[in-house]
Amino acid sequence: MAQYLTGDNAAIDAFLDQFDVFLLDCDGVIWSGDHVFPGVPETLEYLRSKGKKTVFVTNNSTKSRQEYLTKFTSKGIKSDVEEIFGSAYSSAIYISRILKLPPGKNKVFVVGESGIENELRSENVPFIGGTDPAFRRDITPEDFKGLADGTLLDPEVGVVLAGLDFHINYLKLSHAFQYLRRGAVFLATNVDSTFPMSHGFFPGAGSISFPLNYMTGTTPVALGKPSQAMMDAIEGKFHFDRKRTCMIGDRLNTDIKFGIEGKLGGTLAVLTGVHQKADWEAEDAVAVPAFYVDKLSDLRGLAN
Ligand code: PLP
Ligand code: CA
Repeated sequence: MAQYLTGDNAAIDAFLDQFDVFLLDCDGVIWSGDHVFPGVPETLEYLRSKGKKTVFVTNNSTKSRQEYLTKFTSKGIKSDVEEIFGSAYSSAIYISRILKLPPGKNKVFVVGESGIENELRSENVPFIGGTDPAFRRDITPEDFKGLADGTLLDPEVGVVLAGLDFHINYLKLSHAFQYLRRGAVFLATNVDSTFPMSHGFFPGAGSISFPLNYMTGTTPVALGKPSQAMMDAIEGKFHFDRKRTCMIGDRLNTDIKFGIEGKLGGTLAVLTGVHQKADWEAEDAVAVPAFYVDKLSDLRGLAN
């Protein structure tokens, strides 16, 4: 049973006392698209004034940490690039610090947007594909031939990394397919089936990597929530005590599952995003949060 905290100041204080670190999902918690929820900047400051560490953990791979910082600042939210953790960044550090591919086989074929490219650059990981216009065109008979015999492939590619790509096409899928067939490591920034935009839901990063999964029979290692590879990457950077850490999010199958499987001290659901109380009360609920509030700013309790 999830404990409801909204309006119960004693329960909120007791909740806050249990944790030193809050991992905060962004979309659905801090904002919805470009709309910051009222009271959120003040709530983050309130948590920090109580000595809590805040870390933003987002599955959105289309933006780099630097681009996120620009968004936070433009929305009046104080932050620092060091407390932002996106799935593009976790993918880049997984490749550079965990995979550690040998020189000559350490290039990444990117299916995705500039956020991924920027984070790979920040970790000095060489890549091709991505936003390069050479891959944003129709496939030709020469492509079919050169891809099949390998003459169009870069022998240094050792990884295929798939994230949300607004320019996905047959040419890119064919390149990725050929690299994977030849043994490249298959990574996905995150495997969200959909993501919410202000107009409604649209296909998420998982909808880009799943066709590759289908055509190769290989499942990617995912670097976004709920993958514990992301938790390990965050822990590797911040060295937090899991028992004194709480994951705050709106989505059961990503955020709440992430916190539970990571054996964090707690999980808190907010009702400003995708999932509602009925979703975790359903018989087939994927995860049940330990706590919930109507909205993040309810955590300010009496300060509201
Ligand atoms: N992926 C994309 C492309 C998105 O735009 C979003 C939200 O805006 C997400 C994933 C989910 O992000 P979060 O983990 O912050 O909810
Ligand atoms: Ca979310």
